[in-house]
Amino acid sequence: MVMKGKKGIILGIANKKSIAYGIAKACQEQGAQMAITFLNERFEHKLAPIAEDLGCGAKLYPCDVSKPEEIKALKDSIEKDMGQIDFIVHSIAFAPKEGLSGRFYDISKNAFDVAMDISVYSLIEIVRELKPVLSDNSSVLTLSYYGGVKYIPNYNLMGVAKAALEMTTKYLAEDLGRDGIRVNAISAGPIKTLAASGIGEFSFMLKWNAAHAPLKKNVSIEQVGNSGMYLLSDLSAGVTGEVHYVDAGFNIMGMPAVAFNEEGKQTIAWNGEPK
Ligand code: NAP
Repeated sequence: MVMKGKKGIILGIANKKSIAYGIAKACQEQGAQMAITFLNERFEHKLAPIAEDLGCGAKLYPCDVSKPEEIKALKDSIEKDMGQIDFIVHSIAFAPKEGLSGRFYDISKNAFDVAMDISVYSLIEIVRELKPVLSDNSSVLTLSYYGGVKYIPNYNLMGVAKAALEMTTKYLAEDLGRDGIRVNAISAGPIKTLAASGIGEFSFMLKWNAAHAPLKKNVSIEQVGNSGMYLLSDLSAGVTGEVHYVDAGFNIMGMPAVAFNEEGKQTIAWNGEPK
């Protein structure tokens, strides 16, 4: 029970397919107590059974990260109901649809600002506002994707946001290390979630990743959840500012591997289909 005695807040559970749910489950299984947040009243009733499922200690608070007053109120609720906490999971991203397909250079300033505000600035603001309730041995985790490092078709605006998020993770890690707060990111492989369904041709991304990753399959929210739990726990006490890939190894590939059978005959075509 490596999370026994740990308390934390998880932002970004939309449903049981969310990556944040995978992380919450892994933390619960290891003995953590958690609070979770919902975006607005429309989502409150959907998340109530999930809060229940995550254990009697799971509390449910509103938090739209585009509203600074809701982040401040979240801190007050945590202070009142939980006292100090030991971890924060920031599993939130949003870009207007125009930013997730088509020509990149067509993006409007408004779409750019919204994506950066919700997907990047929110991490800084949450950490700053919640810092008074963070213990001096705490861990913050955010979620990134390989499209913040290399070009991925249609990921467009979110790729730029993830690049900024990964650097934000490093600058926060240095800034907060002196306060005993670690900040890390997981760069997860593609997973079919609500947010992912907004990305153009996402099912192709899933097929491509599974065909070309060393493990020849996609990752699950359980796998990301377990790695997330490790980064939130004291098992990773010496780790901060890291972007940890949980992507079946896809990021190490410089070129799609061409598989050969024992007779030396090619078995996988360039497009990942069996040959
Ligand atoms: P998800 O289940 O749809 O989760 C995204 C969450 O962000 C939702 O709970 C959503 O709330 C929340 N959100 C959006 N705008 C918000 C706002 N203004 N205030 C508060 N919450 C807001 O999708 P997911 O795939 O698990 O995404 C979680 C994180 O993982 C994101 O950062 C995503 O970029 C990252 N990631 C995903 C993949 C993938 O392939 N799925 C891969 C790598 C990284 P509502 O649903 O209530 O709107």
